[in-house]
Amino acid sequence: MDNWVLRGANTLVKEKQQELPLGEGEVKVKVTYVLASNFDAVLYSGDSAARYPKTIGRFAVGRVTEAGKNCYGVERNTRVLLKPTRPCGKCLSCKTGKEDECSSPAVAGRDFDGFLRDFVVCKYTDVAPLPDSVNDTEALCTEAVAIAERIYDGLDLSAGSRVAVIGGSFAGNILAQVLQYHKLVPIVIDENRDALEKARACGIYYCFAADEDLAENLNEATSGQLCDAAVYTTCSKLDPALTMRVLAEGKCAVLAGFAPISFNIPARQLCDKNARLITVMSGYDYTDTAINLLVHDAVNIDVFEKEILSEFDPAAVYREMSEPNAAPANKMTIFKLIL
Ligand SMILES: [Zn+2]
Repeated sequence: MDNWVLRGANTLVKEKQQELPLGEGEVKVKVTYVLASNFDAVLYSGDSAARYPKTIGRFAVGRVTEAGKNCYGVERNTRVLLKPTRPCGKCLSCKTGKEDECSSPAVAGRDFDGFLRDFVVCKYTDVAPLPDSVNDTEALCTEAVAIAERIYDGLDLSAGSRVAVIGGSFAGNILAQVLQYHKLVPIVIDENRDALEKARACGIYYCFAADEDLAENLNEATSGQLCDAAVYTTCSKLDPALTMRVLAEGKCAVLAGFAPISFNIPARQLCDKNARLITVMSGYDYTDTAINLLVHDAVNIDVFEKEILSEFDPAAVYREMSEPNAAPANKMTIFKLIL
């Protein structure tokens, strides 16, 4: 039984996992697949610090092998998503029983042990049963869909509104699809041709290169009005200042993604445009909504290349992902855990 523990920056160690006792209201899950994400990569590289030591791995699915007393809706053999976020238990909302409004949700791999290990024991409410129509690979995209749904809710725009999505790789592509499902009009902007082609293949009509024609293209797509919202995805390598350039006055800018990064947003332009700025770094409390969207085929993930590794060196994978010149992810690298 393996357990991949991050003991410090760039120090990922495979350890033997101890036998885990099962309490009332708890389930034991055999982890089957873990998605390697840029969030794990920044934890690995130390760009964003975990409270070491922590098992790495934010996105995972598995199968329940044991369920304790009083576990509702989950039993032995239920296929589940391991929820990547949990209530912090410390904020005012958590302390007053409104855990769904937690102001700083704990994230797997950073605040509590992640899932790159053979077995997880957790509360039955920390897993989400997966319908048969959502396969394991789709389920690994749940958090990206949940983030998108949270952005959609936060923007509160009417149908037909133009939303710029800056950065069209994995998270940006899924965001654009979710916005389109809700009848908004996404405009995907990227410098990566492959990302733009994938977005087009998913039915996104406006996909623009971040080049000298962008201003003209945007004018045409928005009838000269610019965008009703602009979302900058944090895995993008594009200039964050683009966010302000594409935004109409008095609208909302969003910073979103899995991994927090340091960059400068032009405050002067934010003020000049009288813009509102929100951040969405997790899909907390939107897991069930996201699974429901996947059931309804709101998101097509067939365009992403998948690499499933049954023998793997996760440190090498994370190292490659955290290279400064690494291309933004257009493929899903998945660890398959076999006992
Ligand atoms: Zn809380």
